[in-house]
Amino acid sequence: MTRKKVSDGLLDYLTQTCPRCKGVGRILSNNSNFIEAERIIHKICASNRQPAFLFKGNIEIASMLIGKKASGLNRLQAETGKKIYIYGDNETPPENFMNIKKGSIKEVEYAFQELENQRKNKTIL
Ligand SMILES: [Zn+2]
Repeated sequence: MTRKKVSDGLLDYLTQTCPRCKGVGRILSNNSNFIEAERIIHKICASNRQPAFLFKGNIEIASMLIGKKASGLNRLQAETGKKIYIYGDNETPPENFMNIKKGSIKEVEYAFQELENQRKNKTIL
């Protein structure tokens, strides 16, 4: 057995493929994740009849989507014709943008408030 093969075996034994970079050694920029998140919003809104949607993502991506004075959020709502809620936190990786609730405006607004309340409680504890 060559030294290369031994070290490859050890590398496989001690490490695993990074779920973030998929072995490339680089991860997507926030700009890429932002573009992907916008694509997801358009796709989900276009393929569902419900009037309201709650999305969850990393706080940085959420901020980019919402934009200054909610300009981004307003544009997304105008483009899709849907009521959109975007919840951002620090725990969600930047590439994990997802739809977590769809339904009536009342239902989705409630789910969004629940998340905001959980955030407030976490801050107090
Ligand atoms: Zn990686």
